[in-house]
Amino acid sequence: MFSSEPTPTPLDPSVPAIEVEHLTVSYGSVPALLDVSFAIPSGQLVGIIGPNGSGKSTLMKAILGFLRPDVGTIRIFGTPVERTRKLVAYVPQRGSVDWDFPVTVEDVAMMGRYGNIPWWQWGPSKEDREVVDEALSIVRMADLRKRQIGELSGGQQQRVFMARALAQGAKVVLLDEPFAGVDAATERAILNVLENAKQSGRTLVVVHHDLATAAEFFDAIILLKQRLFAYGTPLQILQPELLSEVYDGNVRAFEHLRNVLREKAK
Ligand code: ADP
Ligand code: MG
Repeated sequence: MFSSEPTPTPLDPSVPAIEVEHLTVSYGSVPALLDVSFAIPSGQLVGIIGPNGSGKSTLMKAILGFLRPDVGTIRIFGTPVERTRKLVAYVPQRGSVDWDFPVTVEDVAMMGRYGNIPWWQWGPSKEDREVVDEALSIVRMADLRKRQIGELSGGQQQRVFMARALAQGAKVVLLDEPFAGVDAATERAILNVLENAKQSGRTLVVVHHDLATAAEFFDAIILLKQRLFAYGTPLQILQPELLSEVYDGNVRAFEHLRNVLREKAK
């Protein structure tokens, strides 16, 4: 069965990078996501914010095509996610992977190319190497390319995963809590990497816990608690009444947030 719709080209800026329509996902009979709809334009850095258990990881897994929705559709550049998995990549949480075997930074980034190297080819082509070089420079790991992955900090390992995702050809990269438990310098470094990837035309979706920094980090924010509560610019989303509803009146974090917004408004 073929659809009569024309297949949109991935670079058409009018086609959303991610389009989620009426998405409901359940574990057993309990819905983790209920009737969630949104569209993320290409080339944006978007944060997914919500309390624990609000369905953030479930949403990521659905966008990756790992979970089958009860209802709803997910399209990546206009094509159902089941047929475009290669365009979407995932960067796992820091320190969630143990690297005991000796591979270098460059080896891991090259793993992103394996799907592209034909079996009859002896090794990576010039193009594969160029793609890996670009990916390593976007994540600012080119200088450490010969370093063993086991010798890297958690933050650096995460950047190598990001490089692998970019080398794979992913146009959409999903990151789960990349800022959790990092110091200010690392936070800066990660933001730089995200900005670089954005400049290179990628769309980035980041699960993020900290309301206070969300306003500074993201072009747009998805506020999630089983349902989509709001989706818009930080100024539109970070309203005390709205947040109070989603976070059950736990408004202590909002004091700092108000200051951030006041600074932004100046
Ligand atoms: P978040 O990432 O926002 O903390 P999750 O997407 O992990 O939220 O979880 C959303 C809801 O789905 C929670 O109530 C959680 O307990 C439930 N859940 C998540 N994964 C599973 C699973 N594998 N089996 C059953 N329930 C799950
Ligand atoms: Mg989670």
